[in-house]
Amino acid sequence: MAIIVVVLIVVAISWGYPKYLGYQQEKVEKTFERQYKSFILDRSPDNWWLLQAPKIGVVPTKEEIQKIDARVAKIEEKFQRYAEVSPLSKRIASQFKELFVSILTEEGVSVSNSLQKEEVLKQPDIEICFIAANIFRQHPNAVYYSRQRRSLMIAGVEWPETVFAGMLFHEAGHALFDIVDHAPSASANPRSNSYISEEIVMHELEIQVVDAATGGAFLQEIDKIIQRTPAKTPQDLVYRASLSNWQRLDEIMGATTAGPIVSDINSAQYDIALAFRFIEKRGGGRSGKVAFYRWFRFERRV
Ligand SMILES: [Zn+2]
Repeated sequence: MAIIVVVLIVVAISWGYPKYLGYQQEKVEKTFERQYKSFILDRSPDNWWLLQAPKIGVVPTKEEIQKIDARVAKIEEKFQRYAEVSPLSKRIASQFKELFVSILTEEGVSVSNSLQKEEVLKQPDIEICFIAANIFRQHPNAVYYSRQRRSLMIAGVEWPETVFAGMLFHEAGHALFDIVDHAPSASANPRSNSYISEEIVMHELEIQVVDAATGGAFLQEIDKIIQRTPAKTPQDLVYRASLSNWQRLDEIMGATTAGPIVSDINSAQYDIALAFRFIEKRGGGRSGKVAFYRWFRFERRV
């Protein structure tokens, strides 16, 4: 009799416990999904400085020219200021000196102020092309490196300075690997280890730049969150990182008033920084980051 009872208990536990764990996990994921949506969507709209894509042949107004010139100055300043963050940022800053800062026309051609002035345009090292609000939906992301155009494509919104610095170096890093190094990872399949390894290098760089831009406050806060969040895996950590943590990180980044487009980029940045630091602290190394990134990009719920 006693044996039967023991067997029944064992059966009940081995059947019920995993189910209970699965239920708990489901609850954590659902909470995350809700918080994620509210973090991104419950915001006032993004503040676009570039609302309308110009048409080819239409001469930009003085005001539009000033806006583009301001971006040129901003990008040059960022490359200079964060050149010493790492050997890679140094290479980026020294390699990309002659900038072609442009805006994308409705017809898909990039135009720049330089072409309006009757200057002989030097062969640029890199193009940074801004996308207007009215054609933004035709693009895969708010910020990306286009191999086809050999250009950094950036939505024409008012990015917080810290976020802008981080993503500028991230995408310029992809450009460096492609245009200068001809690295195989630049043309690899997005699901391959080679491609993912390049993404990891760029995210590590982005984290370093963002941390420098916040005077070290970003990683300090990331470490605090890791310390007080009970998590066994980086995936678990990402699911448990609550809305209040993201809001605190937003304060540090100067992104509390950012709209959905900027916040979408930020939330991914926060999750990746949390996971990478978590993996580093546990000695997970590059392979741990590759496994996490694969999950984050291709398997994560939301
Ligand atoms: Zn990337």
